[in-house]
Amino acid sequence: MEKIKTPAKSKATSMEKKEPKAKVMSRSRNQLATSYAPESFFTFEGGLGACISRSSAGEYIQLSDTTISLIYERMNELGRAWFEAAMGARATDVKQPEVMPVQCVEAALLDADRANFLLPGVDRFYLCRPSHMEYTPAPLAFVCRTCGLFRDYDDLNELDKDLPYLAPDHCQDPKKARKCDWEQLDVIFVHWSGNWEQPFPGQWQWSDKEAKAVKRRDICICGSQKFRINRRSPAIGDWFFTCAVCDKPLSQKWLQNDEDTLRMLGNLNDAQGLTEVRMQAAPYRASSAYYVKSDLFIDFKDGNQQLLTRLRPGRKEELKDFIASTYGFAVQSITDEDVRKACEGKPECTKEFANYLSAVATIAQAREQLEKDLVPEGMKPMVQNFVDTAIIASLTVSQEKSFVWPPTARTHGESTNQENAELVADRGD
Ligand SMILES: [Zn+2]
Ligand SMILES: [Zn+2]
Repeated sequence: MEKIKTPAKSKATSMEKKEPKAKVMSRSRNQLATSYAPESFFTFEGGLGACISRSSAGEYIQLSDTTISLIYERMNELGRAWFEAAMGARATDVKQPEVMPVQCVEAALLDADRANFLLPGVDRFYLCRPSHMEYTPAPLAFVCRTCGLFRDYDDLNELDKDLPYLAPDHCQDPKKARKCDWEQLDVIFVHWSGNWEQPFPGQWQWSDKEAKAVKRRDICICGSQKFRINRRSPAIGDWFFTCAVCDKPLSQKWLQNDEDTLRMLGNLNDAQGLTEVRMQAAPYRASSAYYVKSDLFIDFKDGNQQLLTRLRPGRKEELKDFIASTYGFAVQSITDEDVRKACEGKPECTKEFANYLSAVATIAQAREQLEKDLVPEGMKPMVQNFVDTAIIASLTVSQEKSFVWPPTARTHGESTNQENAELVADRGD
């Protein structure tokens, strides 16, 4: 089973670099390659504590050169198809801003001009079994069940330092109403680029002065930087922050912008630009911006390499010839004469052969009438249908009488040492 990281953009977080403390989990290879693939959100049994999987180099897997080429070509094909679909997404709507290549795939998957899709060299990929995966808690956003007070942390070190204050004995509520009881917030903001962001009272915005995307934290007009989260609405997109001191709402509903897209688009002068960067609040388990792409390859260990090269792109004719000669197909298409010869001297074929000839004659006649426009307009579909049916009938006869399929019960690779290949493509960053 091959597991290939989707070429879709995924969160190459700065958190990943700052936090080397990721732990390793034990799961079956199949689970690691799917439910726990890098950057998937998950909870441990019992639903306590949301975490995110972090990519980790698994055990190296030895594969034949042909298999490696097939995997590489498949990734190339998938990436290119994704890129082209994304680039053409607005082709029919000229009112929308043009799609930029960097919005479609990771910059590492673009050529030097950042204009076209280009898969990095095969030497940039590390092929491995999904033998282990790392994880860290995420999102690092917490809310008090009792008073609604909200806390978020940029990294695990920050959370670690603050943990004692998230205990019930250390109520952080400025109004000291009741004892605090903290839980992890199971909501994140996702962007259709594949990026995600944890909630915080504030927004990613473009700074003209600094010419970059900046994370702006809000401060209430009363000067407070402590906020509660109002989760009364059943629609999570309508939740909002209120000041923990004066109760003033921060905004009507919480809105977030995608940092990466802000960086790509720079200053947003219009509503359209704002639409491009807006993220959507989503339960962390159900992010529609993430999925794992998997594919199946068979790694032939012995002398079948030569055969496999025929499955590579641009070898269609060679493959056709191979199949035709191996299984006794005539390379050219069947003629009426071939059918006649196949039926010759076989009394059991007489009726089918007569049917065949009759169908051929009828097809020719009906085609001629269609071509010369002798058929009334209203009758055309019926006649065409008639021709199609007759062609199928003639083909059935010719196939039954000329060939036996399959010629022999031969399957390739049965005696070879096959092994399921497993791969996690390294993002190369
Ligand atoms: Zn509280
Ligand atoms: Zn306030």
